[in-house]
Order: sequence, then structure tokens, then C-alpha cells
Amino acid sequence: MKIKGSADEILNNLAEITDQPYEKAKEWKKLSGSKVIGLFPMHFPEELIHAARILPVLLQESDEPVTAGHAYYYPFFCGLSRSVIDQAAKGYLDFLDGFMAGDYCIQVVGAGEVLGVLLRKANSMFFRLPVGNQSWTLADITQGLKEIKRDIETFSGEEISDEAIRESIRIYNMNRGLIRKLYEIKSLNPWILNSREIVTIIKSSMVIPKDEHNTILTSLLQVLPNRKVSQKEGVRVFVSGSLCGAPKYDILSMIEQSGAIVVGDDLFHGYRYVSTDINEEMEPLEAIAAHYLEKNKDVPCPTRCDPTTDWPQYLIDSMRKHEAEKLVILMAKYCEPHMFFYPDIKEALEKAGIPHLLIEMEHEVVSLEALRTRIEAFIEMK
Ligand code: SF4
Repeated sequence: MKIKGSADEILNNLAEITDQPYEKAKEWKKLSGSKVIGLFPMHFPEELIHAARILPVLLQESDEPVTAGHAYYYPFFCGLSRSVIDQAAKGYLDFLDGFMAGDYCIQVVGAGEVLGVLLRKANSMFFRLPVGNQSWTLADITQGLKEIKRDIETFSGEEISDEAIRESIRIYNMNRGLIRKLYEIKSLNPWILNSREIVTIIKSSMVIPKDEHNTILTSLLQVLPNRKVSQKEGVRVFVSGSLCGAPKYDILSMIEQSGAIVVGDDLFHGYRYVSTDINEEMEPLEAIAAHYLEKNKDVPCPTRCDPTTDWPQYLIDSMRKHEAEKLVILMAKYCEPHMFFYPDIKEALEKAGIPHLLIEMEHEVVSLEALRTRIEAFIEMK
């Protein structure tokens, strides 16, 4: 792919990658002769798989309506899990040599089981992730990582050294750091990247080799400050939610076309993915385990049963930090962890006098025109 060029050219190239998110992985597999493992978002140890010289690819929700997948999964489960099953049922995931699911959310547990049926040739791995945070949790996650490391070693036929994990952690930390630099530039000049471009940058990072993505981002950071953008007044908006699946681009564009500037987010295809680095000095598996716990402090995650997870307060604090006036919550329909937290978020926002708009995102087509009216009315509201 073209790595050098203007900011527009680089961003267009990244958008092409995300339009066909698995094509680069297939190409990489052909050229390298190595394996590809598909991971359900949001918590699996990409670094550990990378250290085994396997390409980890985060499974993405596709734009295609669910058809073949109806035979295998419930219509009242979230769009991401249904879409992944549908893609597998249609043969789109046959290039995967393995996949990893886990138990942080009931819909991922079930989707992992169904993938095992649909992708018979792929190696199925299950990563047990404690969702609480007790005195024994760190040791428990580290033990789980040791078990999954053994599984990956058996699968790849090679031992994974501590040095290899450290090197992968370094590459992944670099990627997170480069994306955070883009956020810093955007915080000084919010027009320089729109929210669709931010999501595209992060989504592309999830599906191509990280070292290649680091090279692309390094080029982008050099040319981005020269990008010519028209600056206009806008209502400062923070966007929250959209767990696991990327938010629909149409919705993000509508928010901005309605006169808003997105000044911050906690999306998984957003700041949540890059908020927290892994400690490079610690014993590497323990460092990955600690990262899982740490990132919940930086950007609280509703998949945790941790009483200290205060997502509502995090949102209020983040909005103050970004001087955001309004909050748009994107909730994937049937996403239980998000639905569970929403009443508390609503109550806290109302108490703090912060206006918010809840948009339930359905995998299938929503009436975009009706949604446009709601978004416009919300942004215009004084
Ligand atoms: S956390 Fe929500 S979006 Fe993610 S798999 Fe579970 S239900 Fe789906």
C-alpha cells in the first residue's frame, strides 16, 4: 500500500483497507506463509499472538445484512456477534487458521461456540477473563494467559519467548502512542480529522500488521499538520459507547453535518483501544494481565463486574476535560453490558445537567432520515 503521500491520500488508503477489512490479512498470509487468528473484540491479548509470529485480526462487524447467519444465532443478540457468525456462515472467514473467544460477555461466549461449528478447520481458543477485580484477580488472569500461551505455542509449533512478547508489547505500545498523538493534534485543532477518519485509523490498526500501521501513522503524523481544513463553529460533542463493533459511519457523519464537532470519545474503535500502554519493565504476562485491569481505570468498561467501575463519572469528567457541551451515546442494540449501565449514566447526566442523546444502533438498516431529524434537533437544542 501507499505509505507516503498527503494526509488525504494516506487516509484514503486506510479507508480502502477498512472497506475490505480482511484482504490485507489474506495477502499477508499468502506472502508470509504464516497463520492468522481472528479475535473477538475487546480484551484479547493481541501482543501474545503477535509474539508467536501469527497475525491477530480483530473481527469486524460487516455492512452486509445477516442472512446465512440466521440459521445459527439468535436475532436478539448484538450486531457484532450476529454479523461475525453470518460472515463465517458465508465462508468469508475461511482464511482464519484460528480464532479466540472468551467469557467477558455472554454473546461472545455463544458466538465462539458457533464459530467452532462453522470454522471446522480453524483452531478454537477460549480465553477465560475474570470480570471482577479482587486481590486474586491479577494472578488469575496471569494464569489464564499462561494457559492461552501454551495453546498458542501448541498451535504454532514454536515456543514464545519473553523477549518476543516484550518486542510485541513495544510495537503495540508504539501504535497506541502514535494514535494518541493524533488525538492530541485533534484536541488542538478538532477539524483536522473528522470522527469517521479517527475510527478508520483505529479500525485499520486492528486488521493489518501493527509494524506496517506504525510506519503509516509515522508518515501521517508528519503531513497531518499541513492538512487544509475549513474551521467552522460547532457544538462540542463527546461520543460514547459502541462496544465491540465500529459505529456506523453514516451516524458519525450525521452528527458532524448537524453542526457538531466531535471533541472526544470512549469508543472501542476510538480512544478506548489506545488509552493504556502495557508496562514494558514488568514480567510480560503479568504486564498484559495488569494492562487488562489498568485500562478499566483509564476508560471504564461495562463488561467488568467491578464495583469501582464508574462509567457515568468518567463520562462527566471527560466531557469537562474536553469542554464538551453534549453527549451522544451510541448503543449497539441488544448489547447487555451497555444496557445494564445506561440507567446509571442517564441519572448521573441528568443530575449534572448534561444533555445527551441515546442512539440505538441496529445492525440492519435503520431509518436514517428519522435519525437525522433527531440528531439535528439535539444538536440545535439550546
Ligand atoms: S459487549 Fe456488547 S457489543 Fe460486545 S459482544 Fe457483548 S453484547 Fe456484543
